[in-house]
Amino acid sequence: MSWNDVDILRTFHETDALLHGHFLLTSGRHSEVYFQCAKILQHPDYAEELCSIIADEFCDKNIDVVIAPAIGGIIVGHEVAKQINKRFIFAEREDKKLTLRRGFSIKEGERVLVCEDVVTTGGSVFEVMDIAKSCNAEVAGVGFIVDRSNGKVDFGVPQLSTIKLEAISYSPEECPLCKNGSELVKPGSRKLPVKS
Ligand code: ZN
Repeated sequence: MSWNDVDILRTFHETDALLHGHFLLTSGRHSEVYFQCAKILQHPDYAEELCSIIADEFCDKNIDVVIAPAIGGIIVGHEVAKQINKRFIFAEREDKKLTLRRGFSIKEGERVLVCEDVVTTGGSVFEVMDIAKSCNAEVAGVGFIVDRSNGKVDFGVPQLSTIKLEAISYSPEECPLCKNGSELVKPGSRKLPVKS
């Protein structure tokens, strides 16, 4: 039996993938929640469990190849490909543009499943979809671990996230946590707040 939302959230917390506090995001905005998918995916058994939700959805959709944008999508794509027993390739940035390197290719007419760890705007996924289309392949679906688009992202093909995590952030001027005088923490620094 697959994990449900409660199991997923509990495991995010247990692995510190999901932290509660007062965080400075890379965008410069402040948030009460910080999410780092790599913290859960560093555990292969958890990665296997999460990716099984995506694999179960697409295993009977005649997928030929799984593709992911580097770096975040690689573990997800590889694990899903393993579970549906298809090949896996990834696209990486060259001059800021996602590209197939290392002799990777997609054949004309192949059915492609795009995988990613976290989707906010979906930019990298759209780029990978464009690579598949430029090869005259068919994008059969998009599978990803966390939807942080607040319901906004629509890839125009069957898509599945294992969980939706609402992303709320504030400009420093309007941040209620700053107004409360709580200390701002930069994620990734050694000083992490106590888990709530
Ligand atoms: Zn703040």
